[in-house]
Amino acid sequence: MNQRFNMAELRRITLVRHDSVRAQSSRERRCSREFFSVRGTLVMLGLGALSALALPAVAQTPQQIQAALDSALGKFKDVKQGANADYIPALAKVDPNIFGIALVTPDGKVYTAGDVKSQVSIQSISKVFTMARVIEEQGPEAIVQRIGVDATGMRFNSIVSVEFAQKALGGPEINPLVNPGAITATSMVSGANRDEVWKHILDFHSDFAGRPLTVDKEVFDSEAATNQRNQAIGALMYAYGFIKDNPARATDIYTEQCAISVNARDLAVMAGTLANSGKNPVTGKQVLKANYVPGVLAVMATAGLYDDSGKWLFRTGLPAKSGVGGGIIAVSPGKFGIAVISPPLDAAGNSVKAQLAIEAVSNALGGNPYAPVVKR
Ligand code: GLN
Repeated sequence: MNQRFNMAELRRITLVRHDSVRAQSSRERRCSREFFSVRGTLVMLGLGALSALALPAVAQTPQQIQAALDSALGKFKDVKQGANADYIPALAKVDPNIFGIALVTPDGKVYTAGDVKSQVSIQSISKVFTMARVIEEQGPEAIVQRIGVDATGMRFNSIVSVEFAQKALGGPEINPLVNPGAITATSMVSGANRDEVWKHILDFHSDFAGRPLTVDKEVFDSEAATNQRNQAIGALMYAYGFIKDNPARATDIYTEQCAISVNARDLAVMAGTLANSGKNPVTGKQVLKANYVPGVLAVMATAGLYDDSGKWLFRTGLPAKSGVGGGIIAVSPGKFGIAVISPPLDAAGNSVKAQLAIEAVSNALGGNPYAPVVKR
């Protein structure tokens, strides 16, 4: 029944005002004003939740899973809202028509629809895996104590959020999925020198994806030349003692990790590994200790879609993470990992079509972990 998902109903305009520190290009500002947000009103959210309630939480056949992907692709392929990120110049040049959906189940089956070959930069989705690397090395408390696991409610590159946490809250009250926390997490990865730290990060991402990943040099260079704001954030985190040394190096490595190239299939395998208790369902490798997965998913649920994380969780119940390259991953624990790539973003920096497609597929498959179990 939610197959008859009515996009028009969900396209009630919600103009989202962000904190004034957002580094926006004029194009972004234009886009923010004109953009018809895909997030609906509370009324529609309520209806969405009701339709989710009526969904049976039963195992799906491969045909049903494939049909859900195909249906979402067909339903949303012509959506035109949103615009590529352009504050990183190389991202503005990415083909906005890339649209691919991939889903991986714990038995290692990979389902795809659309363009799952084209690669984009992973961007902020990398924050999940670098955080996971720190947790794997040092345990979850290291993240809780140094960075925090609370939503900031602000833009991903907000400096006000750092000041607020420091001055009003008095400590580590942000999270590793916004830039200040992410740059700090990168600074916490083990390694005697830059090369070693980088190898640990890249290898960890590759283990999640199940293949050796590489960096898009053009994106890395483009962001490294224009990331003065992130450099400032790194310096601020150092000044407040969150980063212990060499903030410039941490920001540089963070920038490189954001330029890792992935396609929708890669991202789905990464999400599928989280859905499968940290064991890559395709390669069989235990990448992250199973008992560390819930903490990673909790931070994704709290802050994965930045200041729109609450709305997303309300609609889907899925821990997820977006990146300004246009990818979003989402995890239905024990059921599936899903990823969609579509570069045009909404005002909060989240892919418009990826949100629509993941929500539709997940609802069709009973992916919401909070949905009541239907007894038959
Ligand atoms: N590299 C990007 C930045 O730091 C990542 C942001 C994102 O994907 N939200 O601005």
